Amino acid sequence: MDENCLFCKIVAGEIPSERVAESDLAYAFRDVNPQAPTHVLVVPKRHEPDIGTLADADPASALAVLTLARDVAEQANGGSYRLVFNTGADAQQTVFHCHGHVVAGRPLTWPPG
Ligand code: 5GP
Ligand code: ZN
Repeated sequence: MDENCLFCKIVAGEIPSERVAESDLAYAFRDVNPQAPTHVLVVPKRHEPDIGTLADADPASALAVLTLARDVAEQANGGSYRLVFNTGADAQQTVFHCHGHVVAGRPLTWPPG
């Protein structure tokens, strides 16, 4: 755990969150500022700054994030969803604990901004 990390504190239960689902290695909770009817963040329980570093450091946790995101999306919207990993400041990553955004429940446009 990184003591200065918001999502580590959420995983540890030190900061409250609205739990959606959980597995051994990953945790899913509602985004506090939802951009769609379903907007769920899926994080590894282990601290890594982004999906790329997680894939190198702990492939099982990276897989756990993907499969939990799929499960959340299947339950919420029948499996039609967008899974977004903003990675790096230029891509609007603001919390540097790996997280996938599961966004679903309305028609989505492309390309992203
Ligand atoms: P990023 O911009 O890093 O890809 O996404 C960070 C996300 O975390 C944002 O969508 C933001 O709304 C969400 N967020 C920030 N702080 C909190 C919080 O304390 N609780 C929850 N549930 N979501 C948060
Ligand atoms: Zn963290």
